[in-house]
Amino acid sequence: MDISKIKNFFKHNGVTVICPCCSGDQWDYVDFKDGKECVIPAMSIASATTINETMPIVIVICQKCRYIRLHALKPIIDFGKQNNPEA
Ligand SMILES: [Zn+2]
Repeated sequence: MDISKIKNFFKHNGVTVICPCCSGDQWDYVDFKDGKECVIPAMSIASATTINETMPIVIVICQKCRYIRLHALKPIIDFGKQNNPEA
């Protein structure tokens, strides 16, 4: 994932860069350079005892206090395709 695409998505949608824990404004973006995505487990109410789905995410970490934010990856990818279809 190109980090500039994440930053463009945040800027376009008015996502704050102020950390809710320490008021820091510098963030690291976990980048899986091998092309693999990071996912979190997800489950439906109907099958609450079994983790049967995953959701690709972007991990953002405050450089000052190491607070971790998670953002869904698909809307960021879709935004990038709409605004730069050649990429
Ligand atoms: Zn922080």
